[in-house]
Amino acid sequence: MKLVTIVGARPQFIKASALSRALASYPDIEEVIIHTGQHFDENMSAVFFEEMDIPAPKYNLDIHSLGHGAMTGRMLEEIEKILVVERPDFVVVYGDTNSTLAGALAAKKLHIQVVHIEAGLRSFNMDMPEEVNRILTDRISDILFCPTMTAVQNLKMEGFEAFDSKVYNSGDIMYDAALFFKDKAANKASIYSGMDLKENEFILATIHRQENTDNQARLRSIINALNSIHRSKPVIVPLHPRTQSILKKLNIQPEFRVIEPVGYLDMIALTSHAYLVLTDSGGLQKEAYFFGKYCITLRDQTEWVELVNHGLNQLTGADEDKIWEAYQSVDYSVLNFDVQLYGDGQAAQFIIEKLRAQHKVIE
Ligand code: UDP
Repeated sequence: MKLVTIVGARPQFIKASALSRALASYPDIEEVIIHTGQHFDENMSAVFFEEMDIPAPKYNLDIHSLGHGAMTGRMLEEIEKILVVERPDFVVVYGDTNSTLAGALAAKKLHIQVVHIEAGLRSFNMDMPEEVNRILTDRISDILFCPTMTAVQNLKMEGFEAFDSKVYNSGDIMYDAALFFKDKAANKASIYSGMDLKENEFILATIHRQENTDNQARLRSIINALNSIHRSKPVIVPLHPRTQSILKKLNIQPEFRVIEPVGYLDMIALTSHAYLVLTDSGGLQKEAYFFGKYCITLRDQTEWVELVNHGLNQLTGADEDKIWEAYQSVDYSVLNFDVQLYGDGQAAQFIIEKLRAQHKVIE
């Protein structure tokens, strides 16, 4: 059995690492990795492959820094050429990026089974490019692995029961990865002590979603809120290069501490030692929860509604006052992180077993 896995963005490397690690126990399954190049920054790509111990990609497409149309189009063209040569049984795509959609579309048109990991998530905001990518990818996928029951329900509401595709709740493969890297990150504590930060006495924040970075009013409001919080507790922001160049262009000089994007182990070390997390990232919202940290989400919707429903995450959008109030109102004595919201950390194993069973059916 042969899989082609498409990766291109930071969280996809993390998720793919969990699957590749689990695949090591299945010598009968060959995995070929295509790296589209969507995230090309050193700290966001090369370091990830090294740290995560992902098998080196057989193909590097080096497609980045383009508009959505050009990027998705070129990826589609290049991935198709590779699939024609590799002829895999399954193409595995993760999450909601342009690489995800391009991989799924290329495979589907070649009648290769499309496997979508992290299927069924919805923000219900079609202005987000990620939402468009998710919905289209889900619709053309043959096997959909949802991280939560909420995601399964979302697909049901869209009529998936009537479609010729298989939907499973596998649990969240990101949880597999977080559990594995947690121990490895334990000796990485120097990242925060080296920055003269004290355990639970600093705040970790990230901003990279287009809805915030490409809207000047929202971006300024978030920066102001982070500046205010920084006066109370140090705020550290590993800043995405895109956000960094936008701030420069707008001549915004944050008061908080901006650092280059960091590797995943450093990120886990920072998250697990922070007082709380502020972010517009999808993955980081869950990691905050995995490591027992409250999350203030700088978005109007989240795909990870369980966190909000359990009072472990608050949506503030980009509203400066709301962000400040959310920060002020955090009370760890009433928070309960002891609930299993994302499966048992064995999602990769579950996925592989289902694919093997499906492969037998096709044979
Ligand atoms: N991350 C990282 N280094 C950073 C910032 C984020 O390793 O400097 C990790 C973070 O811990 C999470 C993932 O990248 O696992 C999230 O990626 P991103 O925010 O790019 O995407 P999203 O989750 O929003 O799709």
